[in-house]
Amino acid sequence: MLVEPPKCLRKPLFVPNKLLMGPGPSNCPPRVLQAMSQQTLGHLHTETTYIMDEIKEGIKYIFQTRNTLTLCVSAAGHAAIEAVMCNLLEPGDVVLIAVNGIWGDRASDMAERYGAIVRQIRTGPGNNFTLNQIEEGLIKYNPVLFFIVQGESSTGCYQPLEGLGICVIGVDTVASLGSVPVKMDEWSIDAIYTGSQKCLSAPPGITPMSFSKKAENKIFTRKTPVKVYYLDMKVLGDYWYCFGKPRIYHHTVSATLVYGLREALAIFCEEGIDNSIRRHQMCANKLYEGLDRLGMQLFIRDASKRLPTVTTIEVPDFLNWKDVVEYAMKTYYFEISGGLGPTTGKVFRIGLMGYNATSDNVDYTLKVLEESLNHARSKFK
Ligand code: PMP
Repeated sequence: MLVEPPKCLRKPLFVPNKLLMGPGPSNCPPRVLQAMSQQTLGHLHTETTYIMDEIKEGIKYIFQTRNTLTLCVSAAGHAAIEAVMCNLLEPGDVVLIAVNGIWGDRASDMAERYGAIVRQIRTGPGNNFTLNQIEEGLIKYNPVLFFIVQGESSTGCYQPLEGLGICVIGVDTVASLGSVPVKMDEWSIDAIYTGSQKCLSAPPGITPMSFSKKAENKIFTRKTPVKVYYLDMKVLGDYWYCFGKPRIYHHTVSATLVYGLREALAIFCEEGIDNSIRRHQMCANKLYEGLDRLGMQLFIRDASKRLPTVTTIEVPDFLNWKDVVEYAMKTYYFEISGGLGPTTGKVFRIGLMGYNATSDNVDYTLKVLEESLNHARSKFK
């Protein structure tokens, strides 16, 4: 044998039970885990496609849309950003991207790879855009697509979306959906996606998306083919039975992820959007109060700009942020995150998402954080 069976695979699989209070993924509820332990089915079996149809109905509810081109891409959230860009842009098209953290920059990188001309409006980390700023950008650049992130998880910033709807709009709701309103049809959003692993508390790797009729028309009247077969909505839409034509084999969907997402959507629908938003906001407020008692300073001072799901907290002087994060993980299997992109080294990020957004978890988070901070301070002396 050139390569022997590796010794490491002779040991039993080890997966610790961690409490994921970072900016995602969140823990899956037992009902979702149970669903995912069921046997694999074929990707075109009637039982699988029936569940996929149920998922589509659930996605229409979470996005508040009647769009027929509503489906999932079989990949993480990044693939949905790619899907927006590669379906709605052709080489030479101008795209305007709002950047106030890592996700706008990453979307810009992707759009450029598909040959689009990328223009940006930018504001500082922790700040969001006013309608005026957006309108000025739209008038200046006249883009075929405007892309914006509702919940900037790198900074914990919330972006209101009401009142847009001028050109084709793509919105990232990965970190925000479930904690703030999302009204795709009412707000004339043309392309949208969310993360399965955040407020839905499903496993990562299957990403809900929806495209408006305007976006669909654009996709069907392209002059050039979509560059990525796997993400081409014309063919993927057939697999998800979005155009009323018989399903075709596009790829082998993970039946296991389909079961998990189906149950997660069922749980979300049982609670209802408004209750979910209330619960997330209530937990966030409780966390802010607790952090204030601990003498911690929130990175975003203006409460109206805070994303309930991701709270960014300034790293105090005379302490190494890594000591805090590592102590919590080693001592309690508890995930607190550091910053990302523009906030690296500057903040801690605490997530309150889906199944994990409970009053008890807020209490526990504050306890672990306090102890971890004390530990990190004592190391510094
Ligand atoms: N957009 C936002 C706002 C996110 O928070 C994330 C994940 N942190 C993504 C996109 C990418 O999602 P994924 O990691 O599932 O690819």
